[in-house]
Amino acid sequence: MSPLVDRWQTVVDNVKQATNLANRNTNNVQLLAVSKTKPVEMVEELAAVGQQHFGENYLQEALAKIEALKHLPDIHWHYIGSIQRNKTKDIAQNFDWVHTIERAIIAKRLNDQRPDGLSKLNVLIQVNIDDEASKSGCQPNELESLIEEIMQYEKLQLRGLMIIPAKNGSDAFVKTNQLFQQIKQSYPELTMWDTLSMGMSNDMDIAIANGSTIVRVGTAIFGARN
Ligand SMILES: *Cc1c(COP(=O)(O)O)cnc(C)c1O
Repeated sequence: MSPLVDRWQTVVDNVKQATNLANRNTNNVQLLAVSKTKPVEMVEELAAVGQQHFGENYLQEALAKIEALKHLPDIHWHYIGSIQRNKTKDIAQNFDWVHTIERAIIAKRLNDQRPDGLSKLNVLIQVNIDDEASKSGCQPNELESLIEEIMQYEKLQLRGLMIIPAKNGSDAFVKTNQLFQQIKQSYPELTMWDTLSMGMSNDMDIAIANGSTIVRVGTAIFGARN
């Protein structure tokens, strides 16, 4: 096994172990391999051993990889970077998932620009759960109006929430899981509300213990970024 596949297998095993420890079904936690800054060859190597979901932050870099790997139909591309207005068209045309919606205008543009031939774009709302000035994401009290806006869009499938918690140990995971469950109760019409994107290389265990359904792991799989 190559060192890359070896590290990936270790992460796959760790995700499984954390899921079992939390008494959760291993089908309900997905590993998103965050390949930002890493070459397309590494993505291809992991796709060959069965990794299907890849996350990217930088649009131009991501588009080049998506183009280079378009012969691999099983790859699902997730956009996890911040979104400016002028990026929405490329995102709507090329990705399967977007984790980082924080404003209604971005959702509207993604909906308008999603090509007819493609399936619905799966979207998550990013929440600034620790109320950090430097962080992106909507405030919890903005969620309701954003959800009601996105529910109207035919080409978007609202799946859940995403967070990047503050570094200094917070109760972000617990709070986000509570919000996630409350929304599920309040909006029974959200039939595909099933996704909580939280947990990265250093905190995926605690995220899984608190209900995460997608862990976004870069460094532990691909090694440090320069
Ligand atoms: C880079 C990045 C990750 C991966 O972080 P690691 O600590 O390398 O696992 C996850 N989520 C987002 C939003 C990122 O930008």
